[in-house]
Amino acid sequence: MRTQRQIVDYSLQKRAVLRDLHSGRIGTLEVCDASPYLKNAARFHGEPTDERCPVCRRDNLTLVHYIYGDELKQSAGQARKLAELPILAMTLREFQVFVVEVCRSCAWNHLAQQFVLGRDALTADEQDQGEAVAASSTAGRHRETGSSSQGWDGR
Ligand SMILES: [Zn+2]
Repeated sequence: MRTQRQIVDYSLQKRAVLRDLHSGRIGTLEVCDASPYLKNAARFHGEPTDERCPVCRRDNLTLVHYIYGDELKQSAGQARKLAELPILAMTLREFQVFVVEVCRSCAWNHLAQQFVLGRDALTADEQDQGEAVAASSTAGRHRETGSSSQGWDGR
């Protein structure tokens, strides 16, 4: 995503946790503790990956994107589908995204990445374009319902 910035990657921390797990310093129950809320978020808003769970290797990891920021008001702290983020990034100035990886088999979960999205990263020109994009994407959705039956022959 174009306005993505201040990216923090947590793969080093993840490797340290997995090392401790494999050496027996910490137990599986301590790291495979995804809450019912997180598991639901993975089920309804998660982004499937091709990466196997590093703990049970039974299932692929799912990424859940949580959004935070004052502009989000009551939506702050909610999980959103990855496809919704570029639209939010065009309408809001700035918000935080926390990406959590979850295994739906064994409940392994770990913060994978965090970053900032939003129009504040764009120049003034780009911000105008962004407004047009955001407006046309909503208009497009309305149009789809009305004229989709015409297809290409309608011209
Ligand atoms: Zn697992």
